[in-house]
Amino acid sequence: MSSTMKAFVMEAVGKVAVVEKPIPEPGPDDAIVKTTHALVCTSDVHTVRGALAIPLGRTLGHESVGTIWALGSNVHDFEVGERVAVNAITPCWRCEYCQRGFPSQCGGMLGGYKYTGQMDGNMAEYFVVPAAEANLARIPAGLPDAKAVYACDMLSTGFAGAENAELRIGETVAIFAQGPVGLAATIGAGLLGAGLIIAVESKPERKKLAERYGADVVVDFTEGDPVDQILALTDGHGVDAAIEAFGFPETFEAAIRVTKPGGRISNIGYHGENPNPLGIPLAPFGMGMSDKKILTALCPGGSNRMERLFRLMSSGRVDPTSMTTHEFAFDEIERAFQMMANKDDGIIKPLISFP
Ligand SMILES: [Zn+2]
Ligand SMILES: [Zn+2]
Repeated sequence: MSSTMKAFVMEAVGKVAVVEKPIPEPGPDDAIVKTTHALVCTSDVHTVRGALAIPLGRTLGHESVGTIWALGSNVHDFEVGERVAVNAITPCWRCEYCQRGFPSQCGGMLGGYKYTGQMDGNMAEYFVVPAAEANLARIPAGLPDAKAVYACDMLSTGFAGAENAELRIGETVAIFAQGPVGLAATIGAGLLGAGLIIAVESKPERKKLAERYGADVVVDFTEGDPVDQILALTDGHGVDAAIEAFGFPETFEAAIRVTKPGGRISNIGYHGENPNPLGIPLAPFGMGMSDKKILTALCPGGSNRMERLFRLMSSGRVDPTSMTTHEFAFDEIERAFQMMANKDDGIIKPLISFP
């Protein structure tokens, strides 16, 4: 049997490749998973553009599922051969940050993001799951891998946006941008009982999906200032909460402008690509006394959350697979990545199947 595997790596800033690497061995608390399916993420595109200072040759990817190949000596809750998934964020669950209830910040700022950031990612034929007993989750029978893989990042992050919006039944919410994370936030807002969901998007295929996933109104920012449109839809008062899932200073500011006093601004957009600081418009922020809250999140992980996301998919309440606009075999990964980088052909999420 071969002791090497193929892995999709960042060779240099702006350059990716598939290379041979040794199949990893588990440390005492780790599991090794043989990959079946993965999703390419816009975060990987940001990373290759130089957003993260990582060693060259680091494996990309953080949205993969598969079957257990090997287990470390301390991992007793799982068996080789089981179908499993792991969240993009893999905290230690032991450190001060984890114990304070912020596992995404494990060990320090954004420290729960270990795949790609601190170790090889999982866009490879085999990958390591650290702290496997707390981070692995069994995929229920009947839930296909190609669906379960949405729990790794898209649903967890999008739902975190909706959860941080602290929605009460019947409230109003605006969601900026309907990429995969924004679409998941739209689903999440519906699950939490929002009474009016306003999605902001201009691309036709994304507008259509936003409606399918529960948006009552889709505001097209190419047809006028989205802030004016959202204020008009809410009798000039604004929404109870705004979710920023785009990651630009303009949308962050717009989220503050459309939120009524006492409302919540929930950020799940990645703001690392633009060097400008985020601005807070003073009048819409009540000169700092508006009782508006700004909340932020990084994809919450852990087996319990993964199991809850699986339950929503197993019951049929949530089906994210309409976001899978393209499918590729792993040997076509470079093409899938380039399409994601260029946003070609209406791409939302490319699903990668492993041999
Ligand atoms: Zn991702
Ligand atoms: Zn920790």
